[in-house]
Amino acid sequence: TGIYHSLFQLNEHQKIPTRPDLDTAMYVLSQFPQSRVAETRIALVDAASSRKVTYAELRHSITCLATGLHHCLGVKKGDVVFVLSSNSLLYPIICLAVLSVGAILTTANPVNTEQEIVKQVKDSGAKFAIASPEEARKLHSTGVPTLLTTCSKHSKSVSIEELIENCEPLNLPEDRPNQSDTAAILYSSGTTGDSKGVILTHANLISVMTTLKWSVDITLAQNDVFLCFIPMFHIYGLAFFALGLFCSGTTTVVMQKFDFQAMLEAIRTHNVSNIPAVPPVILGLVKYSKGTSDLTSLRRVGSGAAPLSKELVDGFRKKFPWVELRQGYGLTESSGAATFLPFSEQTKAPAASCGLLIPCFRAKVVHVETGHGLPPYNKGELWLRSPTVMKGYLGNKEATAATIDSDGWLKTGDLCYFDKDGYLYIVDRIKELIKHKGFQVAPAELEAVLLSHPDIVDAAVIPLEDEEAGQIPVAHIVRAAGAELTEDQVIQFVARQVAPYKKVRKVNFAYAIPRSAAGKILRKELVLQSKQKAKSK
Ligand code: AMP
Repeated sequence: TGIYHSLFQLNEHQKIPTRPDLDTAMYVLSQFPQSRVAETRIALVDAASSRKVTYAELRHSITCLATGLHHCLGVKKGDVVFVLSSNSLLYPIICLAVLSVGAILTTANPVNTEQEIVKQVKDSGAKFAIASPEEARKLHSTGVPTLLTTCSKHSKSVSIEELIENCEPLNLPEDRPNQSDTAAILYSSGTTGDSKGVILTHANLISVMTTLKWSVDITLAQNDVFLCFIPMFHIYGLAFFALGLFCSGTTTVVMQKFDFQAMLEAIRTHNVSNIPAVPPVILGLVKYSKGTSDLTSLRRVGSGAAPLSKELVDGFRKKFPWVELRQGYGLTESSGAATFLPFSEQTKAPAASCGLLIPCFRAKVVHVETGHGLPPYNKGELWLRSPTVMKGYLGNKEATAATIDSDGWLKTGDLCYFDKDGYLYIVDRIKELIKHKGFQVAPAELEAVLLSHPDIVDAAVIPLEDEEAGQIPVAHIVRAAGAELTEDQVIQFVARQVAPYKKVRKVNFAYAIPRSAAGKILRKELVLQSKQKAKSK
């Protein structure tokens, strides 16, 4: 039939709960360690201050904040709450409190510009916002009531920390969401165009939690110490660190953001054993770290969000023979991971593979032109089906229909093949998306910015492979007749309007942008032309 199934089955205790009235917060809280002794286990540690939060304190903070949000501020079921902050001990508490009152989370990269934030607030229909004091000014012009995470001299309103401190855990509203209701709206550009709101339901997130428990191997994980620098606004960090790992009773050391030296220090100080990471971090560990032999507490490192080369996997395994390196693959539209490598498979796994399909996932490899399902070792587009696949794009029926077919298959826009043992290999990206250090950069968004310049008459943005960042966005530009725009001026013009990770880092001036008869940019052709040009130099 050309369909690939997961080789794993969840046992009776691991089955995805189907009770329709179960919501994400209720599910996660029900998975917390239950006994009084177990509740004294450490859930979170702040990497910088070493402040610790036990599971009992975490539960208490979540319920107090949920009470405060609901009874003091009127946040209720169905309200969209915008969260704008880097990682902190408060981040998971905020997420679970928002979900506890039946409200909907929308998150964003805190380095996004005011323009980008305002756009998302409008698109998501956010009614409330929660922001760290450094980022809150980006929300001012929206008029959305904004709570600061911590007290600030300039703010008269109550902070999240004060709500947690001063509210008693009261009964929450009876009117609770059910599994088919929206839990989160995360942003992704998908296969084409601008950033879109990915609607994830409670059923999607509960399914992720259940499969994640399987993937982290709960019996081992209880003694694991995880390190979190993956941003919690992204599905990778949200699913793992703001929700999922609490279901396994683990300890997570939270870093505000990634910093290589701080990461090494945190591993040593907190005896970190498990790090979900991204390829640039793996490269950093292989290339630059000196004296890594004292990182003996490390046992497992994961890599996802972007391709990891076989050479890098081999280099890592040579340098850290005591550490298991496991690659995973996923996307926001599938609520995160679709493949993973269980520990039992570690020794057999080929270095370049992204692992095996997670339980509940089915896949098809579809011929890009004929649309036929393909057998092992044949390359085609990866299509996925699973209870974690998004409901659709917010307010965009057309993009939803182009991405999920009538049978529920999600078209990933990634070129791949499976081998005969079920290992997945991602070989290329056929969608427009550029990934810079694991972060999404949508070419269409940068093209719109470029075209707003009076001296630019046409523009196309394509990726250029880069060892450190994975890819960098390169702009191809047609200047207006007589215009003397320089590369540096173009780079600065874009940089003023977009988040730093989206910056155009190279500009090529052209006479024309290759376009189809319908006016679509022929990106493949442009990429090919650029490669040929680079070769001939
Ligand atoms: P995002 O929605 O930001 O998580 O981006 C998802 C995209 O990242 C996927 O469609 C892939 O193009 C890419 N990606 C994620 N994981 C991997 C991986 N292990 N190897 C190659 N590409 C990946």
